[in-house]
Order: sequence, then C-alpha cells, then structure tokens
Amino acid sequence: MEKREELYRGKAKSVYKTDDADRLVLLFRNDTSAFDGKRIEQLDRKGMVNNKFNAFIMQKLEQAGVPTQFDRLLGDNECLVKKLDMIPVECVVRNYAAGSLVKRLGVEEGKKLEPSTFELFLKNDAMGDPFINESHVVAFGWGTAEQLATMKQLSLKVNEVLSKLFDDAGLLLVDFKLEFGVFHGQIVLGDEFSPDGCRLWDKETRKKMDKDRFRQGLGGVIEAYEEVAQRLGVPL
Ligand code: ADP
Ligand code: UDP
Repeated sequence: MEKREELYRGKAKSVYKTDDADRLVLLFRNDTSAFDGKRIEQLDRKGMVNNKFNAFIMQKLEQAGVPTQFDRLLGDNECLVKKLDMIPVECVVRNYAAGSLVKRLGVEEGKKLEPSTFELFLKNDAMGDPFINESHVVAFGWGTAEQLATMKQLSLKVNEVLSKLFDDAGLLLVDFKLEFGVFHGQIVLGDEFSPDGCRLWDKETRKKMDKDRFRQGLGGVIEAYEEVAQRLGVPL
C-alpha cells in the first residue's frame, strides 16, 4: 500500500488517497477543536491515543457484527480504512442528558434517558451542525429512508456493545456521535470513535473523562483519555 496525496484536511484528522481506490489513510493529528472549530489547540499525544483507541473500538464493533471502515493500524498516528461515500449526517445516541440536549430542553445534566435517544445533526460547521429530523435527510437527498433505518439500527447496536464495554471498565457511556458512509452499496461505520466524540463519566465519581474536559477548561484532557484507554486495555 502506497500513501498518495492529501484528499481532505479536517479539524482533527487528515485523509490521504492510496494506490488502492478503495482505501484511504486517516492521520490523527494533535489538533483539538471545540465550538465548531472556533477554538483549536494542540494537545500532545492526542493523535496517537485517539488512533489506537479508535482501532480498538472499531475492532470490537466489527467482532460484534457492526460493519466498520477499519482495515489496519499503520503506525502511531495512522490507520488504513475503507474509502466511504460519507453521508453528511451525525447520528447521536444518548443514555444520560448532557451537552446540547441540556441546553435545548433545559433538563438536568445526568438525567437517565429511558429509552436511549437517537438524534440527527447535519454535518455543516458553517451552519453550526443544525439539529435535523429523518424527513429532512430524505427530502434533501442526504440519504434514503432505508439507509437511515440501517444507520439507526447500527447506532443502537453500537450503544448496546459499547455501553457494556465501558461499564465493565467502570465508565458510563453518556452519549456519542457516529458518522456512516456507503461502501459498495453497504452502510458502514466511518470516521472515528474516541473520547473526542463521546462522553464518558467515571461510574462512581461521575468525573468527566472525555472532550468536555477541553470544552469546559477542566485540564488533564489527555491524561483522562489515557486513563480510559488503560482501563479498557487499549495498547498505547
Ligand atoms: P471534520 O471534517 O469534522 O473537521 P475530521 O478532522 O475528523 O473532521 O476529518 C475527517 C474527515 O474524513 C471527516 O469529514 C469525515 O467525514 C471523513 N471520513 C472519515 N472516515 C472516512 C472514510 N472511511 N472514508 C471517507 N471519508 C471519511
Ligand atoms: N459530537 C461530536 N461532534 C460534533 C457534535 C457532537 O463528536 O460535531 C459528540 C459530542 O462529543 C457528544 C455527542 O456528540 O459526545 C453529543 O453532543 P451534543 O449534541 O451534546 O453537542 P455539544 O454541545 O457537545 O457540541
């Protein structure tokens, strides 16, 4: 496999073509952004930790029957993935109220949500990733009703698998964001799963162990990511 030119530079990752039309290289950088890219800082070791964390989680999901983009790790900061046609929609599953839900509905942070909720946001930084519903996705042609049904079913399956995995490590999976794409006609989980895109609280103390430490200026961001990785047994 040969790495070729940069295809896209996102806020946290760079995406490269390869000599295989079906494969891309994802490079995890140390850039850490919040508030739709309005605040960006470099955090030492973040690229490496998220790359290895993501590889570990994607492999667990694949074993549980969720089709993922993951092919293999290439080094500390890079992995090889399937090249997906991304659906520009973020799927958010919540088990406890936090973040934008608390702001939008004025509910108490930490309230247990039963059943877990499933939300959609348009992936568009300039518009601040607006909240959308299923009919918008179909009406604007971002995805079909069938693709949406699969994305929802897979998101809830991911929640089932990972809630258990994190629970066993003494962590609550509060909420998370997933992105899907199409690979040879099949809906496949893309992008990344790392503490940048989910909320994890210590089960006993409710200490925040995710990107909220960065968003809220709590400090110890990477130390918390590393502790989560260590509790899960992710080799760093
Ligand atoms: P952003 O675009 O939100 O700033 P990143 O910095 O994480 O995000 O950039 C990674 C980009 O690569 C995202 O736009 C994401 O949708 C896209 N992407 C992730 N995985 C794949 C994949 N397997 N195939 C094609 N594109 C992908
Ligand atoms: N999230 C993300 N990228 C986004 C927006 C949200 O990874 O562009 C994640 C976020 O880390 C959290 C979940 O999705 O785990 C729900 O986020 P929320 O809607 O509460 O938004 P926030 O106020 O955190 O931006």
